[in-house]
Amino acid sequence: MPPSQITADVAVVGAGLCGLRTATLLQQAGRTVTVLEAAETIGGRTPTTRLGTQHHDLGGELVGRDYHATRRLLHELGLHLTPVPRLTWVTLLPHTRPLRNLPHLPPFLRALRRLSAAARQLPAERPWEHLSATRWDAVTVSDWLDHQHVHGSPRRLLTTLIRTFAAADPGEMSLLHLLYWVRTAPGLFTTLSRETRWRIAQGADSPARALADQLTQPVQVHSHVTRIEQDDRGVTLTTAGRRTHRARHALVCLPLPATATLGFTPPLPPAHRRLLDEARSGHLTKIVATLTRHQGRHHRRVALGEGILTLALRDGARAEGFAPGPYARLPEAELAAELRGLLDLSPADVQDTAVRRWATDPLAGGAYPVFRPGQLVTHGPQLRASHGRVHFAGADRSTWPGTIEGAVRDAQRAAASLLSRTGASS
Ligand SMILES: Cc1cc2nc3c(=O)[nH]c(=O)nc-3n(C[C@H](O)[C@H](O)[C@H](O)COP(=O)(O)OP(=O)(O)OC[C@H]3O[C@@H](n4cnc5c(N)ncnc54)[C@H](O)[C@@H]3O)c2cc1C
Repeated sequence: MPPSQITADVAVVGAGLCGLRTATLLQQAGRTVTVLEAAETIGGRTPTTRLGTQHHDLGGELVGRDYHATRRLLHELGLHLTPVPRLTWVTLLPHTRPLRNLPHLPPFLRALRRLSAAARQLPAERPWEHLSATRWDAVTVSDWLDHQHVHGSPRRLLTTLIRTFAAADPGEMSLLHLLYWVRTAPGLFTTLSRETRWRIAQGADSPARALADQLTQPVQVHSHVTRIEQDDRGVTLTTAGRRTHRARHALVCLPLPATATLGFTPPLPPAHRRLLDEARSGHLTKIVATLTRHQGRHHRRVALGEGILTLALRDGARAEGFAPGPYARLPEAELAAELRGLLDLSPADVQDTAVRRWATDPLAGGAYPVFRPGQLVTHGPQLRASHGRVHFAGADRSTWPGTIEGAVRDAQRAAASLLSRTGASS
């Protein structure tokens, strides 16, 4: 039986960056907001932990040059960026030494040029509407690399980068998804070098914490929403503890796999339901370490690997590494040994480690979405569709999918849309 009392204009589900940014924008515009968060902490996929003398980001961390919305938000919140070891051709070349012998280089460079040219053509909001979208969405990245005759070490390099930065295997990821990701720069290597510029000095969770502090109604943690019902006057949200919250509108700011577990009354339209049922996020595990021996802030290194870890970074007393796909469940000791190997560290150099396995996190369901062939063209139009009084937002649904920038941009879109729907009489 839904409670009759409407207590907020908008109930926001999920206190990640997107949910919290939307909530503060709505509050600034005079709306009342309730934020419900399943976990005991806020910040979602941008958690920060402290190990010894250092803090470490266990999820989203890197901020790129073109992250304009994020950088504006950080400025507004009085937070600062600090540079990270750069991913450049110089750091990538050791991995691709045979490039100098060059049998595979011309097809590789030709393929990169084609990728950039195609990405540039995509409409930012709706890439699935491009004339060639169906063709690009029909094949995997691997199919396309075969077609472009990209083999040998260039192919291994591309595979490593895609496994790390898209948490996807080229054999499962649609070419259209790769183009969508590359579109923002454009060019794969430009994308990477622009996306991996800085991290947030106070920790990746600091924007979420600062935004939560601005809310007049504190975030309600331990509030795992399981069901959203709507009627003519509003929505009723039920949590796992059987508490109900009533508001005029609901905004669901969750990863796609977490959204798939919610019940909706009336049910979602079949096309939206199919998007959620088919959505999968990539497996990625992050290991971080505080080092005992370091030579100040300037001891910086980036290493690519083709085994358990595909990328390792060292920055002074901090080190971190990424394990994709099948290696995501390995014991911490094996991940730590691999991290030491890639960064030339001895066991005595490492003081402490921590691991976050995103694939087994039920509130995330993986790192970020991987769209398989056919999915973007079929489901793309559902990503930002509303269902009556229930609206959806988040990095996974944004025009910058799977990024911090996507979460902040989608918050702006969702807030603008909700402001127009929550005028005096709605
Ligand atoms: C390992 C990793 C590395 C990354 N690296 C980068 C990077 O370097 N740069 C970059 O730009 N991006 C990166 N990202 C992506 C970026 O962190 C995310 O895209 C972004 O933080 C998502 O924000 P969000 O608010 O959309 O979702 P989330 O942060 O996932 O927030 C959703 C919130 O909803 C909560 N929730 C889930 N289910 C329920 C429920 N039923 N009821 C109530 N609450 C619920 C969750 O606990 C969470 O707090 C990375 C992500 C990962 C995992």
